[in-house]
Amino acid sequence: MAASTLIEGGHLVTMDAAGTELTRGWIAVRGGRIAGLGEGPAPSDVRDAFPDRVDARGALITPGLVNTHHHLYQWLTRGWAQDSILFDWLVALYPTWSRIDEGTAGAAAAGAMAVLARSGCTTVGDHHYIFPRGSGDIVGAIVHEASELGLRLHATRGSMDLGESHGGLPPDFAVETTDDALAASAEAVTRYHDASSDSMVRVAIAPCSPFSVTADLLRESAALARSLGVRLHTHGAETVEEEAFCHERFGMGPTDYLESLGWLGPDVWMAHCVHLSEADVARFAATGTGVAHCPSSNARLAAGIAPVRSLVDAGAPVGLGVDGAASNEHGRLGSEIRQAALLARLRDGAGAMPVRDALRLATMGGARVLGREREIGSLEVGKLADIVLWELGEVEHAGIADPVAALGLGSLPRVRRMLVQGRDVVVDGELTRGDSARIAGRVAQAAERLRA
Ligand SMILES: [Zn+2]
Repeated sequence: MAASTLIEGGHLVTMDAAGTELTRGWIAVRGGRIAGLGEGPAPSDVRDAFPDRVDARGALITPGLVNTHHHLYQWLTRGWAQDSILFDWLVALYPTWSRIDEGTAGAAAAGAMAVLARSGCTTVGDHHYIFPRGSGDIVGAIVHEASELGLRLHATRGSMDLGESHGGLPPDFAVETTDDALAASAEAVTRYHDASSDSMVRVAIAPCSPFSVTADLLRESAALARSLGVRLHTHGAETVEEEAFCHERFGMGPTDYLESLGWLGPDVWMAHCVHLSEADVARFAATGTGVAHCPSSNARLAAGIAPVRSLVDAGAPVGLGVDGAASNEHGRLGSEIRQAALLARLRDGAGAMPVRDALRLATMGGARVLGREREIGSLEVGKLADIVLWELGEVEHAGIADPVAALGLGSLPRVRRMLVQGRDVVVDGELTRGDSARIAGRVAQAAERLRA
């Protein structure tokens, strides 16, 4: 695709504040940003200025999807501990994960991101928290793979410093010292974080969870992130077992505990947040703390269903995440739109999550959670050109009454075309800058190496 392009004739869902949809819309892209859009056909001066055109008839056009929580390295450990709850599943997987290094992490990231891209994801949030001694530059490997594929990345430098012998869940060999974790977090930010408005790589600091991290590391990480001007991420309120752990060890639930350490705020986002009281929901909304809702993973581990309707109604930022592939082998972000709609209905009734609300979680919601709401998440003039054209002409979707229902309730449509910052990343369902067959080979080899 040329640097300037006019996309014409698709059903355009902007996800702007008014919820504008254009049934035969056009959208013009120049210099990596959205230069104009409207109900089609495009005016003649626009057509003159944009000779390179894309025919989008029969396609649904949405903002690129934003993934707010993942563990890319887990692409190598799909299919393990299939019938376990979170704590048993973690204990089963820690020993294998503790053998990860920059080579295997790179192969895993390529596999996981290839699948994300082919499911409409333009911005990848990752949470990496296992750094065995001598494992090389794992964050660097992930940054490299995202840039190869052309995806926007929000990497995190995670950490664990509360091993089994001190009452934590992970084995001692899987954790770092508090000081090492903090120093390496600062280094990852210095090396890879780009704060510019069209940034392709940002880095946040992300101690893993209340049951694998000391209070010191949580407190110090918050101070460090704020001194560096980067965001904070962790897991919170995922399971009843975590809640019991927090009550037993700290005398309070996970949200109160994290708040006591400076961990609620507009620069924080947390994965899961399944077990929140009404008061917790109000605290998230009042502080602007973001939530990465991971419906498939929560179902896979039988964690429960997050109170997404209440969070959204209260005004808290909520985005979607696939979570690591060891608890969501599916790994496709587009499919989480449907999963979010279905689980919210099971929890709160048929009207709890209309498909447009679910799509908003996956786009503007995710952009807010990552602090990128001025740059991505909706199709508006001046925003970065992260755009997906979904194919609705195939037998799965042809003739459907509402193109948004095709995406939010039907099977995931093929990505006809996907742009990140105006550049093609997927065309006809395939990566343009990577070779999925080659990536599959790397993944198989690396998974084998990790098992050996
Ligand atoms: Zn997670």
